[in-house]
Amino acid sequence: MYLMDYSDNYYVRTKAFSINTNKLNESLQCDVCIIGAGLSGISSALYLSKLNPDLNIVILEKNKVGWGASGRNGGQLLHGFSSENYSSQKHTQEEIKILWQFTLDAVREVKKNIKDLNIQCDLIEGYVLAAVSKSH
Ligand SMILES: Cc1cc2nc3c(=O)[nH]c(=O)nc-3n(C[C@H](O)[C@H](O)[C@H](O)COP(=O)(O)OP(=O)(O)OC[C@H]3O[C@@H](n4cnc5c(N)ncnc54)[C@H](O)[C@@H]3O)c2cc1C
Repeated sequence: MYLMDYSDNYYVRTKAFSINTNKLNESLQCDVCIIGAGLSGISSALYLSKLNPDLNIVILEKNKVGWGASGRNGGQLLHGFSSENYSSQKHTQEEIKILWQFTLDAVREVKKNIKDLNIQCDLIEGYVLAAVSKSH
């Protein structure tokens, strides 16, 4: 099987550790099998193991941990939606409020995980709004 290498980016150049993973060459039995080791897969495993530490959880990744969007994103921890145009959405005002609250809770939860798990990720409050061409 051909494993693709990480794209050359900030995270790859500054990562302070590597993760040893094994190629799957055998038949495994597990309680939960998660496909994909991005933020969704890794956090699903984390929360499932918090719910039940006895669960035998396997994460299968076809390339490398964080190989997809999770390892090449802007790294900005923001609440809110990526579009302010809700007119085409079929949500009620009440539903939009609930969704908005999810985004606030998500930011809070990431910060809690960084603290509880002592993740050395140089967290900085704020965000970058960059113009990359003259038209911006
Ligand atoms: C350019 C860019 C910038 C972004 N900036 C931000 C930001 O600033 N802030 C923010 O919060 N979000 C940002 N995002 C969004 C965020 O990165 C994604 O929402 C998040 O990473 C999605 O995580 P994921 O685990 O669902 O997917 P991914 O990280 O893509 O993980 C999916 C994994 O599954 C693996 N996989 C796929 N198919 C299989 C298979 N059949 N078998 C085994 N493994 C498989 C892939 O190799 C990959 O590793 C950005 C996204 C992009 C692309």
